[in-house]
Amino acid sequence: LVSPVTVVATGIGRLQAGLAARTRFNEFFDLAQETAGAQPGLSAPQPRPGTAAVTFEDVSFSYTGVPVLDRVTFTAPRTGLTALVGPSGAGKSTCLTLIDRFMHPDDGKINILGHAITDWPLEELRSRVAYVDQQFTLLEGTVRDNLQLGRAEPASEEELATALEAVGLLQDLTSLPDGLDTTLGRENDLSGGQRQRLALARALLTDADIVLLDEPTSQMDSINEKRFRQVVDDLATTRAVMVVAHRLSTVQHADHVVMLTNGTLTDAGTHQTLMDRCSPYRDLVNSQQMQAA
Ligand code: ADP
Ligand code: MG
Repeated sequence: LVSPVTVVATGIGRLQAGLAARTRFNEFFDLAQETAGAQPGLSAPQPRPGTAAVTFEDVSFSYTGVPVLDRVTFTAPRTGLTALVGPSGAGKSTCLTLIDRFMHPDDGKINILGHAITDWPLEELRSRVAYVDQQFTLLEGTVRDNLQLGRAEPASEEELATALEAVGLLQDLTSLPDGLDTTLGRENDLSGGQRQRLALARALLTDADIVLLDEPTSQMDSINEKRFRQVVDDLATTRAVMVVAHRLSTVQHADHVVMLTNGTLTDAGTHQTLMDRCSPYRDLVNSQQMQAA
């Protein structure tokens, strides 16, 4: 098995320290995944007061001709936790990647902070939307570089320590041979769970308005999952957090739940509303999928 660190490092070479890191990160994803639809040379819009963080309006999307989302409509409020739920293959991850503009809808409209997604220069969009992907991508570089990927300005020691403490990684990472200046790679690799928590700490350190988390607790034990919920609660007091959630504990907790089935919207509302009126949601909650890891 080849670790993600190695795979990514092969793709882009060594990271430069500091500010270059974020640019390299974006370049990597742009080259690898950005498709048509960006409008170069746009000046950055300002978030419109009173608008939602994210709105999908009749969004349809297909992978090379195979329909994956069919006229999906939902809203994620400017602050608070929005849980995206539904059976495997429903299109949850696809929605998140559309929000960070790794791909473009075939039809329909996505608005971010009151503006059409294509009205944001990509760089600005990526600084407003922090995306923790399912692979918890790390780049070959120091722990510090990896933590600061989403930032324009370097973080202070104190900010770094606070974020690492919040995800339960401070002890693990400061005890590496060179502490936060240890280069991650073959010699100093992290476990899946550690990687996941590092990616979460990175999201904590960004100044993004919108944080997207794809199945963020899949490799966490119950102690770290509890920590994670605390982190998400803190984040969601000032930002929009959208999380693809399997665990009932996360969903029950959400301010807003959006359920997708097979590429279409099943229902959206609070956990209790959906428990009362949406039998597919009740079945999902009661099924193994939500209860298990
Ligand atoms: P979920 O996150 O809800 O499990 P996804 O958004 O990952 O669902 O996938 C939705 C559908 O799109 C699935 O049928 C999946 O097989 C398909 N799909 C996902 N990624 C790709 C891809 N890169 N190429 C082709 N089909 C894909
Ligand atoms: Mg998924």
